[in-house]
Amino acid sequence: MKAQERSSRAKPVVAYIGLGSNQGDSDNILTNTITELAQVKGCQHLHTSSFYKSAPVDIPDDLVDQPDFLNAVIALEVTLSPLDLLGEMARLEKKMGRSRGPDSIRYGPRPLDLDLLLFGSEVIDLEQLTVPHPRIYQRRFVLEPLLEIAPDISIPGQGKAAYLLLDCCCQRVDRL
Ligand code: ADP
Ligand code: MG
Repeated sequence: MKAQERSSRAKPVVAYIGLGSNQGDSDNILTNTITELAQVKGCQHLHTSSFYKSAPVDIPDDLVDQPDFLNAVIALEVTLSPLDLLGEMARLEKKMGRSRGPDSIRYGPRPLDLDLLLFGSEVIDLEQLTVPHPRIYQRRFVLEPLLEIAPDISIPGQGKAAYLLLDCCCQRVDRL
């Protein structure tokens, strides 16, 4: 069995999760999600960044006209496996009203998007989970809140997050 498939681990790992919302009461959704994640068995809350308002990025032209996102990043100490953590994240996305059915629009507005950014220093390449998150290093709305709570952090395979931020500083992101 691969390490990342085990359901729990003896040694806790620090996981970073990116939160985004641009549909519904985004402030409430992020606040409630953070509270719920902190209550998941095997997760201990360490840090929460400020909330940030950001312009949507990587959206196809026909869907670009959508509300700004509210974003944050949290750090959790976890004894869950990465896949079990991803399962808890999907459960909360659904609970907050996110639909992933055949009618849902891939890049449309969403009440909640949870991305597993980092899982300790692990590199994970599974069908349903890629860690570090593949677009982490191109997104100011991820890097800026991540650096707020982990100023010295490095992204495995990419280097210091502080240097990566320099390449995407033209994206519109405002700390609230
Ligand atoms: P995006 O966040 O890129 O807009 P989605 O939220 O729709 O995309 O995620 C689609 C799928 O991405 C999820 O079903 C999940 O299995 C997969 N996935 C792969 N790697 C990750 C990761 N690091 N964090 C969250 N989801 C991931
Ligand atoms: Mg996502």
